[in-house]
Amino acid sequence: AKKRVAVIFGGRSGEHEVSLNSAASVMDALDREVYEVLPVMITREGRWLAGVEPARALAGGEAGGVPVTLPADPACEGFVHTEDDGGPAGRVGGRIDVVIPVLHGTFGEDGTVQGLLELANIPYVGAGVMASAVGMDKIIMKTVFAQNGLPQVKFRHFLRTDWERERDAVLEDVEQLGYPCFVKPVNLGSSVGISKARNRGELVQAINLAAGYDRKVIVEEFVDAREVEVAVLGNDYPVASLPGEIIPLNEFYDYEAKYVEGRSRLIIPAPLPPETMLQIQKLAVRVFKALDCAGMARVDFFVRRSDGTVLVNEINTIPGFTRTSMYPKLWEATGIMYGDLLNRLIALALERHEEKN
Ligand code: ADP
Ligand code: MG
Ligand code: MG
Repeated sequence: AKKRVAVIFGGRSGEHEVSLNSAASVMDALDREVYEVLPVMITREGRWLAGVEPARALAGGEAGGVPVTLPADPACEGFVHTEDDGGPAGRVGGRIDVVIPVLHGTFGEDGTVQGLLELANIPYVGAGVMASAVGMDKIIMKTVFAQNGLPQVKFRHFLRTDWERERDAVLEDVEQLGYPCFVKPVNLGSSVGISKARNRGELVQAINLAAGYDRKVIVEEFVDAREVEVAVLGNDYPVASLPGEIIPLNEFYDYEAKYVEGRSRLIIPAPLPPETMLQIQKLAVRVFKALDCAGMARVDFFVRRSDGTVLVNEINTIPGFTRTSMYPKLWEATGIMYGDLLNRLIALALERHEEKN
């Protein structure tokens, strides 16, 4: 019998659109000889609609989707009509064997959807609740990195309320990092709300911007560095791909550089000395294990231009997954093609589910 796969995408996130693109590629590549596939879109408002193809959603058509919910009750084994739908009671899309959450950012990459899938007892691709949540919060993530002796930039952090109440104390603390510095909302991705500050005026502006996105703000020392990314695949014994380099044409790898065609270049493998490649691959596996990730993650690094020092920047537990995204590209260069990568991720999800039970 074919495996029944649900691809959940969209989401109540600033990265909704990015997810539609990733999901369109995933839907297109899943082998229909092996899988029966149910697309489930989460709208920007958080409504779940079964049967909407991501490619169609990209073109602006949400019509025709069936409103569904995923009950936390494991006996349901999948999606059911929402009660106010007026449609027939019962399941939509049959029993689900595995879910591929192709959701970036809040309410999807942060452990929330993973928690629902745990309650529903449905296997899913990628990191579990804890690793997803830790990976989404840049402060907690860096605290775990530090505890594991992983090299990273110096940073400070504070609450939006600290900023409102004791601005001078916050500035004094943050300015110890020197200028320029990088200011970020703590729980976001895709470079949203991130800016580089070169002086106090820009720092104040940058903090106001970041605090508009999140109740927590992080400020990091600036590193003049090359940006190198590694794909990690596996559960208890993860392996690292060849590293790849990103050359943003903008001042840094901002939203536009990430998603506008031609605003950055990917070089795979990264032109680095063999010992640096190996060092980065080993660090990527250590990062993956430090957070107790599963299935996949992309680990991003800085390689300081002056002396080649390698620093861990961050982990992304649901990396971009279009055919031209870094994660699948890195595996392709390492010898695993896009469709086969999905097969492996599904196998890893099922394996992990077995281990848990
Ligand atoms: P996101 O999770 O949104 O991708 P990142 O922390 O990766 O956030 O930052 C986005 C980009 O900003 C990086 O890819 C890099 O180009 C730039 N950047 C972030 N932090 C620093 C830093 N400390 N020094 C220099 N550049 C940085
Ligand atoms: Mg990120
Ligand atoms: Mg990043």
